[in-house]
Amino acid sequence: MLIDYATFHDRANALLQRITELCATAQRDPREVVLLPVTKNHPPAAVEYAARHGFAAVSENRVQEAVEKRAQVTATVRWDLIGHLQSNKAKLAATHFDRIQSVDSEKLLNTLDRAAGEVGKILPVLLQINAGNDPAKFGAEPVDAPRLLEFALTRPNLRVDGLMTVAPLSDDPAVARRTFANLRVIRDQLTVQLGAPLRELSMGMSSDLDAAITEGSTLVRIGRALYGPRT
Ligand SMILES: *Cc1c(COP(=O)(O)O)cnc(C)c1O
Repeated sequence: MLIDYATFHDRANALLQRITELCATAQRDPREVVLLPVTKNHPPAAVEYAARHGFAAVSENRVQEAVEKRAQVTATVRWDLIGHLQSNKAKLAATHFDRIQSVDSEKLLNTLDRAAGEVGKILPVLLQINAGNDPAKFGAEPVDAPRLLEFALTRPNLRVDGLMTVAPLSDDPAVARRTFANLRVIRDQLTVQLGAPLRELSMGMSSDLDAAITEGSTLVRIGRALYGPRT
């Protein structure tokens, strides 16, 4: 069961307030941080809620679910893919998503570039980096990031907006914080090495929002703290 709109509205405002406070503590401009609702496992109405509140984009982790949902949503929002993408779904993803945050291989870059060319668009992407060195997580290894970025920058139909990571599951908040600090360092090094601006650092979810803002996140992907538990 989806929560009602009033509950969503209150939670969204409380989260935006929290982000503003965290930015103040970290001496950051809150306008640098975007709250990205994660609507996976929720009905199309969850997306309508986000649009009604004024969020410009939502995110999903499975291609098929998002394609079906998007067909039922009338509100105009952008859709980001944040879940692992297999090459055989790349064409579908390039067609139906406005940005793909989970790109972690040259093969996927190639397939997405070709698909974006076929549908006639420049597709924004983020490179997913396994900044927590977690064997259970997807994402390119940090040592491979320069080569991956170099390759991405030469794909004519892709635009690289930045980097994304998911912190390892842990009861220790220091683990997430270290992971996010690491992604920021990787971004700074890549910017110097390759001269790419890499504006976005997509890091932080409901459980590790504070650490993410403190370490420089520009995109926090929030599901449970907005919509409650997923069924
Ligand atoms: C589900 C998901 C989120 C949101 O997680 P919550 O704990 O619900 O905030 C963020 N990022 C990714 C990649 C996800 O799959």
